[in-house]
Amino acid sequence: MEQPALIIVDVQNDFCPGGALAVPEGDQIIPIIQALAEDFHRQDRPIITTQDNHPPHHVSFAERGGPWPPHCVQGTPGFALHPALKLPAHAVCLKGEDPDQDAYSGFEGLVEGVDGSREPLASFLHRLSVDTVYVAGLATDYCVRATVLDALNAGFHTVVLKDAIRGVDVHPGDSERALEEMAGRGAAIR
Ligand SMILES: [Zn+2]
Repeated sequence: MEQPALIIVDVQNDFCPGGALAVPEGDQIIPIIQALAEDFHRQDRPIITTQDNHPPHHVSFAERGGPWPPHCVQGTPGFALHPALKLPAHAVCLKGEDPDQDAYSGFEGLVEGVDGSREPLASFLHRLSVDTVYVAGLATDYCVRATVLDALNAGFHTVVLKDAIRGVDVHPGDSERALEEMAGRGAAIR
C-alpha cells in the first residue's frame, strides 16, 4: 500500500500577490491546498511545508548579483505562510539559510523537530516510511520543479498536483516546460 505525504512548497506571503516576489495568482491555489491538507490530516498522513528562510543579504538577492529581490527574510512577515492557509499539524522544512548558497528544493532543507532537532527532508520521509510524495505550491518553474526532481532522484514516487501549483513564467512557457520536464523524469501529473 502507498505511504503518501503532502509537500506544500513555499506558500509564503512573499510569493503571493502583494509579496516581494509574487507569483501571479499564487494565492488562488490556497483553497485547493487547504482541502488537500485536511484530507491528508484526516487520514493521518504526514504534511510538510517547505519555506524559504533567507538571512538578510542572501546570495540570491539582486544586491549580491542574484536573480531575485530580497524575499522570505528570516523573521519578517514575508517569510510567514499565507494567513489564508490554516494548516492542521504539519512539519516545517526550512531552506535557503546559508547566506552564500541558494536552495530551491525542499530536499536541500532541514525539517525542524519539536525538540529543536533538524533533519534532512529525505531522511524525515524515510523515517515515516513514506514512499510517495504529492507536491503542491509555489512556484511551478522553480521550487516546485526542484523539489519534484529531487524527490524523484531520492527514489520517491512523485505526484505533481497541477491545480495546486502556480508558476512565475519569467520567460513565457517556463511552467509548461517545467511540467514536461517533471513528467519526462517520471513524475505523475494529476
Ligand atoms: Zn529564495
